[in-house]
Amino acid sequence: MDGLMMDYPLTVDHLIERAGRLFPTVPLASRLPDGSISRTTYGEVRRRAHRLAGALRRLGIERGDRVATLAWNHHRHLEAYFGVPLAGAVFHTLNPRLHPDDLAYIATHARDRVLLVDDVLLPALERFRDRAPFEHVVVWSHGDAAPEGTLDYEELIAPEADEIAIPRFDENEAVGMCYTSGTTGRPKGVLYSHRAIVLHSLMSATKSGLGIGQGDVLCPVVPMFHVNAWGLPFTGTLVGCTQVFPGPRLDAESLLGLYEQEDVTISAGVPTIWMGILEALEREPDRWKLEPINMIVGGSAAPESLIRAFDRHGLNLIHAWGMTETTPLGTVSSLKRALLDLPEDERYAIRAKQGLPSAFVDARVMGPAGEAPWDGETMGELEVRGPWVAASYFETPDLADKWSPDGWFRTGDVATIDADGYVKITDRVKDLIKSGGEWISSVDLENALMGHAAVREAAVIAARDPKWDERPLAIVVLKEGASATADDLRGYLEPKFAKFWIPDAFVFVDEIPRTAAGKFLKSALRDRFGDELAKGS
Ligand code: ADP
Repeated sequence: MDGLMMDYPLTVDHLIERAGRLFPTVPLASRLPDGSISRTTYGEVRRRAHRLAGALRRLGIERGDRVATLAWNHHRHLEAYFGVPLAGAVFHTLNPRLHPDDLAYIATHARDRVLLVDDVLLPALERFRDRAPFEHVVVWSHGDAAPEGTLDYEELIAPEADEIAIPRFDENEAVGMCYTSGTTGRPKGVLYSHRAIVLHSLMSATKSGLGIGQGDVLCPVVPMFHVNAWGLPFTGTLVGCTQVFPGPRLDAESLLGLYEQEDVTISAGVPTIWMGILEALEREPDRWKLEPINMIVGGSAAPESLIRAFDRHGLNLIHAWGMTETTPLGTVSSLKRALLDLPEDERYAIRAKQGLPSAFVDARVMGPAGEAPWDGETMGELEVRGPWVAASYFETPDLADKWSPDGWFRTGDVATIDADGYVKITDRVKDLIKSGGEWISSVDLENALMGHAAVREAAVIAARDPKWDERPLAIVVLKEGASATADDLRGYLEPKFAKFWIPDAFVFVDEIPRTAAGKFLKSALRDRFGDELAKGS
């Protein structure tokens, strides 16, 4: 129709083209496995991404083919984030922490034709390479010659041109791929479209999203194989900000050293990372001179006590919720202006919620009686829809019932929504404790327990109970040198919860098993402690 806008596709190649042209000298830093820092710029990343695209075409990669990566966070991985799409292919990040059987399954299911791999991860590759379909393995090395049966990345891209002709992509074409880590059954593949990644990046850059601007120094600690480091490398490139990649060194001291040295202003990671960082800061509060940092926390619930503790160090935790299926940002917690004057405790309670649905993400909670009211109390399964929410899993038609008949994605998370629209995740459907027909939130109990001065970590599971069917059981790791008894913890929880929510037993352990993404592995805890109450201990 006359007078309308241009039909200009929202495609990922635009991000690196823009950064390469407008911010060619903006620095990017990567921590190498030996601890040294390697530096580059957007201009250089753009040139090398074009070279990689040329090389992939030379290897026979065609439109829509999958090219996998098995790598930590560094700028050559960023080159692949753009080089693979420039070749018209789909970049597929593999998680090196997964079991080799899962990696073999995922690479085969995705039909990955080429793999780009860090030299330090070659041992992980060896454990499944003979069961994977890779036609070529290309090694990101640090000086050593590529082992037999592999290609060296630098040699591969060296003969290519700095600029290739970019075809016009369809914004609804696949550009990225990631498998859910499989805490719930077989890993499932999600294909990200150009449009989803572009819109997600625009939203995440906004102040009510994650608030990322050109002047920021962005350090994605969350791995680039974990939902594209929550999309941050794309957002960072879109705005042209400095990016700092921590490589394989993810211990608290290395990260704090990097933050200090590179003047990091925004970072992102799972709660375990922040817990480690907090412990280091509390041990040596004056050691690191940090900029004010916005620290995005997600992947599992951030306890309120963690948010409070970081405030005491002048660091701002921003709680966000998302999934592989939602690219991943679904909600981000920030206080509405009208709530800033609330008493401190109420403000923290809101900041500890998972937040408001992002622009263009619709959220609803479905209980047995249909859509739950936004009263902050009625629990049900959280369902979402939006332009960066998956519409199906890759070649997995038997899971079509994860989508409701009216097109919403069933997240498998249990949540409430309050009158202000804040979403609070209270559980996963499979972790929910159903005691005598009543629902008890394991997440609420865990977060409260982690507020106790002696508790380092706590997981609460449903233990089988002959009378109530299930009862909460707490598994607790105490801080080093601290002590607390089951009675102490019971007494601590009693004023905060209804009587029937208080765990029947407290088990003290040295460590809580975790998934490849750093989340509590509750299935393992249920296997080990699920019959604890029946035993009468
Ligand atoms: P997986 O389902 O394999 O663990 P994801 O990385 O996609 O893979 O995890 C998504 C899930 O992580 C969500 O469904 C939710 O249960 C949990 N999650 C993510 N962010 C939060 C958060 N801020 N609070 C509580 N749970 C979260």
